[in-house]
Amino acid sequence: RPRPESQKEAQAWLEERGRKFGLFIDNQWSEPGETFASTNPADGKPLADITQATAGDVNRAVEAARRAQPAWAALGGIGRAKILYAIARLMQKHARLFAVLETLDNGKTIRETRDADLPLVARHFYHHAGWAQLLDEEFPGHRPVGVVGQIVPWNFPLLMLAWKIAPALAAGNTIVFKPAEFTPLTALLFAEICVQAGVPAGVVNIVTGDGRTGEAIVKHEGIDKLAFTGSTEVGRLIREATAGSGKKLSLELGGKSPYIVFDDADLDAAVEGLVDSIWFNQGQVCCAGSRLLVQESVEARFLKKLKSRMDNLRLGSPLDKSMDIGALVDPIQRQRIHGLVEAARAEGCEIYQPAACELPADGSWFPPTLITGASTSAAVAQAEIFGPVLVAMSFRTPAEAVQLANNTVYGLAACVWSENISLALDVAPQIKAGVVWINTANQFDAACGFGGYKESGYGREGGREGMFEYLVPVSEDARPAAPIV
Ligand code: NAD
Repeated sequence: RPRPESQKEAQAWLEERGRKFGLFIDNQWSEPGETFASTNPADGKPLADITQATAGDVNRAVEAARRAQPAWAALGGIGRAKILYAIARLMQKHARLFAVLETLDNGKTIRETRDADLPLVARHFYHHAGWAQLLDEEFPGHRPVGVVGQIVPWNFPLLMLAWKIAPALAAGNTIVFKPAEFTPLTALLFAEICVQAGVPAGVVNIVTGDGRTGEAIVKHEGIDKLAFTGSTEVGRLIREATAGSGKKLSLELGGKSPYIVFDDADLDAAVEGLVDSIWFNQGQVCCAGSRLLVQESVEARFLKKLKSRMDNLRLGSPLDKSMDIGALVDPIQRQRIHGLVEAARAEGCEIYQPAACELPADGSWFPPTLITGASTSAAVAQAEIFGPVLVAMSFRTPAEAVQLANNTVYGLAACVWSENISLALDVAPQIKAGVVWINTANQFDAACGFGGYKESGYGREGGREGMFEYLVPVSEDARPAAPIV
């Protein structure tokens, strides 16, 4: 059971700020305007009131970012690196507060926020401090894009913030950033870290709100580049809204990633990898291995092992260090997942959920779920469920595995499990996915570009490719304007 003192610091942080937050623009906090509640999904109780930023607020943030951009670029890579290193160190210093706050706001387990999210966040800032230092040598003939608008979802609030803000700052851009309406708290704490780290006024502006605030950012003429992570549906709206606007755009969208297990795989290791792939963060992961493709000859053996492993997953208070599965971010999400699973049941699919898995009375919860017997065209086999639900199918030959793997509109990630490395290396490049992991899952690093194909979006975050998203070649500025005929 979590000890009450484990969340003392986070609760004190909220109390000291009156559980009410304005916007962070030009290194100043505005008075809270019209607000909405951010709640703890594990018990449904409100945590704080958050301001719904208007188009006027977004305009103030963009103006502040425009004013600040020339000086931030002129500071040079070495000057910006010092500030990025300071942010990284402060994130490590306050890692516990960030982790608990994230767990309270999102419902994900403390084991994940403490051991995965926060270390990856700090690493991302350190890594991009390095890129800032190397900018002139590694990206000669490039300049920052200018002012960037960044919009992120709720599943990895702080990690998505780091993926967006660290490269943008390293390259010399200034930022208008919007966290998801369900999980704004760690972005607000991050604003305080920016001040402590010496980020100049106007360089990082944080506006909170729902899709309306996002729309105001997307449409603002003072934004030179948009970076969006979220649903394929909103990604499509943004693509349409920015067509012909001249804004640079990167989109990280949904997925329905295949998890391929060949008959010669280490089945126990593959089961562990699958647990990490689909039940990490309650399956609310864009690259979750949500489609198990297992070779027919080992299907029964593999599913038996998987079910017995599912029986041992622990679901409960996200602040309890021994829990594997926490709460879903919101009751609406639970309703959606429930609807998809019940539709599969009605179509004759078999649904397995551990019998001993008791759901807490309050909050939004869903048990780990395995669906078998679905056709390859069923909704559960094609749509992104974004929850702790795995759909299992079988194949006979490697060619069939590849065909099934590529049989969705998405192309974000994939896993291949086989002890025959020649087979794995032959299959991997045939899968249209931004990343293919062999005999492992969920390996992320700041040095490695992440992104998708097809309806999973375009552009890469992380590594050298990620830096290009926030730079433009100077030669583009020098190009003569098209003659007016
Ligand atoms: P969402 O698209 O509903 O919301 C994402 C963000 O966009 C939120 O901040 C939201 O307020 C904002 N938004 C909503 N409507 C908008 C509009 N019309 N204009 C501008 N902004 C708008 O997605 P979600 O439900 O919060 O997140 C889940 C989705 O994110 C999943 O589909 C998941 O696969 C995807 N995701 C992708 C990646 C990736 O790297 N590819 C990573 C994490 C999540």
